[in-house]
Amino acid sequence: RKAAGIEFAGQDPTMSWMIAEVEMVQEPAWGFRSDAYGIHAIGKIEEGGRVGVVLTERQLTIGGEPTLRDLSEALVAVYGTDYGLHNPTWLSRFTDMTRQAASYRDRRVLLGGDAAHVHPPMGGQGLNIGVQDAVNLGWKLAQVVKQISPESLLDSYHAERHPIAARVLRNAMAQVALRRMDARTKALNDIFAELLGMEEPRKRIAAEMSGLGVHYDLGEGHPLLGRRMPDLDLITANGPLRLFTLLHDARPVLLNLGEPGRLDIAPWADRVRQIDAGYAGAWKLPVLGTVAATDAVLIRPDGYVAWVGVGTQQGLMDALTTWFGPPAAAD
Ligand SMILES: Cc1cc2nc3c(=O)[nH]c(=O)nc-3n(C[C@H](O)[C@H](O)[C@H](O)COP(=O)(O)OP(=O)(O)OC[C@H]3O[C@@H](n4cnc5c(N)ncnc54)[C@H](O)[C@@H]3O)c2cc1C
Repeated sequence: RKAAGIEFAGQDPTMSWMIAEVEMVQEPAWGFRSDAYGIHAIGKIEEGGRVGVVLTERQLTIGGEPTLRDLSEALVAVYGTDYGLHNPTWLSRFTDMTRQAASYRDRRVLLGGDAAHVHPPMGGQGLNIGVQDAVNLGWKLAQVVKQISPESLLDSYHAERHPIAARVLRNAMAQVALRRMDARTKALNDIFAELLGMEEPRKRIAAEMSGLGVHYDLGEGHPLLGRRMPDLDLITANGPLRLFTLLHDARPVLLNLGEPGRLDIAPWADRVRQIDAGYAGAWKLPVLGTVAATDAVLIRPDGYVAWVGVGTQQGLMDALTTWFGPPAAAD
């Protein structure tokens, strides 16, 4: 990213944490502890009786590898003892720096993962969205490299993934703000806790933080459009089949739940797998709950729905062309 000169816009750090895996002679105070500086945690690592430690630093420290002595002093400051810590497996530091690449693509350079976005780890979302970046990009890149799709397909990578990370960054910044220990922030935190005790806000935040509520803007239409395809229990001529097994080889799938053989996609038959199946259950999506049933769905290799048909094939050819390249010429 640096070599490509892509701007990494955002917020400088305001807080830092030390994180380590060590051994301790004495049994420490397990769990969370908060003081005027923030929240600290000591947890058991089952394997080998080791101990995981995360300590909020009293002042922002940027860079520089922390030493065992730094950790010992910080433990004493919070717990009054360092529990005889020794033998660190690793010892590190992170901050709440929050930045995002202004563009995920500059010609032949594509950014994903922490090269594209960094944020504090509250909520454990960074690796998750980094992997989703890769899954969003991988099949598009393959199709462009194989000249199945035009290069412009790659621009949908930024269009789809940049807004997702922007929301994750916003969420993580809010979590850092809510961890401040002053009375006013605690009041705000209490209100948040009350809100998250309610069904609707809890579902929304959970869907957002888990990455299961992602919605790519693929235009107006059925609520499934642009959302992650649910893992349906299908009935096929060969017996029961879980939908996600159809996605294992990362190829597009056209699922026909209507009259078998009614959808004609011959010019894409080399690229798109067509499955005739039956499904009798409900269609449930995160946050939205049950949505209207449909009888045909075009699923991208990343598991997102590119087209939904309800009793008609209208728009299918356009969706196939947009996502899986122009029709192959007839022999
Ligand atoms: C304390 C902490 C807890 C976290 N917990 C979670 C969690 O619970 N859930 C979650 O989803 N995410 C979590 N994250 C975030 C997650 O760790 C990162 O988002 C993820 O590791 C990013 O993966 P990456 O491959 O994009 O980048 P990295 O893991 O940073 O990998 C990039 C690699 O490139 C190498 N590299 C850099 N420059 C060069 C170069 N010029 N040449 C060659 N190699 C180079 C680096 O050495 C590194 O190995 C956490 C992060 C922290 C700090």
